[in-house]
Amino acid sequence: MFREHLASDDNTPMCTLLGMKKILLIAIFIMSSAENVTPKSCSRFWDTSSTKPKLPAISIGTVSPQSDPDWIEPFPPFKIAGNLYYVGSKGLANYLITTSQGHILINSDLEENVPLLRASVERLGFKFTDIKILLISHAHWDHNAASDTIMKLTGAKYMVMEADVPVVESGGKTDFQYGNVPASLYKPTKVDRVLHDGDEVRLGSAVVVAHLTPGHTKGCTTWTTKVQEAGKTYNVVIIGSPNVNPGYRLVNNGAYPQIAADYEKMFRVLKSLPCDIFLGAHGNYFDLQTKYARLKDGALEAFVDPEGYQKYVADKEQAFKNELAKQRAALSRSQ
Ligand SMILES: [Zn+2]
Repeated sequence: MFREHLASDDNTPMCTLLGMKKILLIAIFIMSSAENVTPKSCSRFWDTSSTKPKLPAISIGTVSPQSDPDWIEPFPPFKIAGNLYYVGSKGLANYLITTSQGHILINSDLEENVPLLRASVERLGFKFTDIKILLISHAHWDHNAASDTIMKLTGAKYMVMEADVPVVESGGKTDFQYGNVPASLYKPTKVDRVLHDGDEVRLGSAVVVAHLTPGHTKGCTTWTTKVQEAGKTYNVVIIGSPNVNPGYRLVNNGAYPQIAADYEKMFRVLKSLPCDIFLGAHGNYFDLQTKYARLKDGALEAFVDPEGYQKYVADKEQAFKNELAKQRAALSRSQ
């Protein structure tokens, strides 16, 4: 499934409605217990059944992906392990790495997600304004559209992989695939620190390493760190994205000539990373909901899943190879 690249148009009726209900929604979210509540007045935004809100689909070339209401659906914030916390929505993953010197936030999401994100951080007992560093999985709007807003609210420094910096600073206009899709654009955001493959981001006792895993975007970044829990040390991998989106041209791509070679590099990198705790830019990469349910049932190591990581990467590599073969065959037939 490809659920990554869907509409985030502030002018849609849905988003206007969402804006009007935002304050109520967040107030209820803060007051609720660890589990989601389903207040009747807000059931459109809380229910996980067939009454999900419908966001509009956008058309990208010949592709019209379905929109995903999970992106703006609240999800309980929780500790994954050590100083690593999940503070995202049901569909868009955000991670908070806490230290005595302030916090690192990974991903800013859509503008609509900011109140929810803030409520999640505060519900865990941390100050939103203590976020000192903002990182992203890759330069697509579902992960970075609200970066400027979050930087203004917190004063955080924005650190982005070099090849994604022009996209971020152009507000998405230089993206090789979506640069001409109005719904994919966002406020241009100045980057404070340009990152390169292998660079470390340090804050307090936290060390987070940026791995260039290109293909999905030119600067797609997989983050690794180590966390300690109950006397054990775990290797954490937060995958940037291994997906070939609908409409991506893997052959004869004038805007991204080395795209296929970059995907191959990305899979080599992902397969080489030691992984205990498997995470990613969207919860569906690593089956967030199932693992969270197991965590709630007392399985403290619910997110420790080295086999699941290897299987996920292998499955995605095979999907990439299949798509590449298909596109190469189509090209040779047309010549
Ligand atoms: Zn993406």
